[in-house]
Amino acid sequence: MKYHALKKKAFLAAAVFTGTTMVIPSMCLAASDKDIQTYTDTDFAMDTVVSETLYTTGDDINSKLTSVLTDVETNLLSWTNEDSQICKVNASDGKDMEISGELSGYLERILKIARDSDGAFDPTIGKLIRLWDIGGEDQRIPGEDEIRNVLKDSGYEKVSLAGNNISMDEGCSLDLGAAGKGIGCDAVLEYLETQKDVTAALINLGGSSVMTYGSKPDGSSWNVAVTDPRAENDEEYLGVVALNGTEFLSTSGDYEKYFIEDGVRYHHIMDPSTGYPAKSGVTGVTVVCDTGLEADTLSTACFVLGVEKGSELLKKYNADGLFVDEDHHVYLTDGMKERFSLLQDSYSVEDITQ
Ligand code: ADP
Ligand code: MG
Repeated sequence: MKYHALKKKAFLAAAVFTGTTMVIPSMCLAASDKDIQTYTDTDFAMDTVVSETLYTTGDDINSKLTSVLTDVETNLLSWTNEDSQICKVNASDGKDMEISGELSGYLERILKIARDSDGAFDPTIGKLIRLWDIGGEDQRIPGEDEIRNVLKDSGYEKVSLAGNNISMDEGCSLDLGAAGKGIGCDAVLEYLETQKDVTAALINLGGSSVMTYGSKPDGSSWNVAVTDPRAENDEEYLGVVALNGTEFLSTSGDYEKYFIEDGVRYHHIMDPSTGYPAKSGVTGVTVVCDTGLEADTLSTACFVLGVEKGSELLKKYNADGLFVDEDHHVYLTDGMKERFSLLQDSYSVEDITQ
């Protein structure tokens, strides 16, 4: 664990970005890389703060990266913009509809994860999410009959996708909220790959989705700090995950949006099989893999599944994961062991038992 030697204070002093995850910049550039300029920007897209760092021999195109994210939101995924493809599908009332190749490609991957996770990730539970409205103005514990009522319209098996044609059972609707930031990162990657001047980039969406692209001028790893799910303040980090080259990291935790009633924490990650916030014993899951959509959906699915079943699912996707539980244990998949360094003494690293 190479960062154990790093003193926590010195480590935090090197941070440029705070949030759920923060990213630690490299400190020096090699002389031969002096033509590479670094541009940083902070913007707002996909309902969250977006931090961008660009290493390029050309112009500052950070604002273009933000507009790629905004386009994905507006044209494809938005639940509220009537012109978005998802809105049109949801208004189709069970009728067959043609969607773009881009959206059908994303949906195919999402439905595969829904199947592979046995429905722990389910893109059709929008009505349930709105019923609870965790983090919103109307958040409350709904009645059991209300939950039963919305669950009868949900279920990823109610969605049929054949090429670019989609149909859903009447009453069923799609909500790709838990995949949106990952899809946004994938779209940014596709755009960056057309930009010959850009040698490396880092995009951080609200701290929970991070994409690294290429290699920093000094060739060092990208170091992403992961929040301690039970920290008293946002500056307390559980540890550091090293990313190399083009990789995606996503974190799902019960500390992002929640309320506590009668000592029970009601958070925003739902178990589609019960209609209640997931209770798998974990407080946070971080996943690293080579696509944004998979990182984002897998972290949500793994939160619902818990350590054992979640780590099995990650194997199937060749993804690395870390799970944090209520008892301050940290579970690392084999690949994550190579990347992670613990910063908090109050946590211990444990083996995953299958
Ligand atoms: P965040 O969006 O906070 O980064 P996630 O990617 O884990 O975190 O997504 C959580 C959001 O996904 C919730 O706010 C809700 O809209 C939606 N969601 C919650 N549970 C599920 C689930 N089991 N399957 C699919 N989407 C979910
Ligand atoms: Mg997610």
